[in-house]
Amino acid sequence: MSKICTRCLLADFDRAKYEQLIGKSLSDLPPEDLAPFDIRDERLSVCRSCEKLNRGTCLACGCFVEIRAALVRGRCPYKNW
Ligand code: SF4
Repeated sequence: MSKICTRCLLADFDRAKYEQLIGKSLSDLPPEDLAPFDIRDERLSVCRSCEKLNRGTCLACGCFVEIRAALVRGRCPYKNW
């Protein structure tokens, strides 16, 4: 069993769950609602160094950051991105 780090994204420690929860949710959205991949990556790199990230979830809002970061209208509740 791999160790789960608190500053990890869901995709980092449970790829199957990521696909089930996040990949599926995002694939159900219209493409115009999704941010470009480079923007998502920039946002998630900020989350990875944020003390509010806990196992893929943002402790400030309770969301999966990989979903929030993927949305065109997604915003960090602390305005970090
Ligand atoms: S969304 Fe904002 S507050 Fe939440 S983990 Fe990412 S950078 Fe931190």
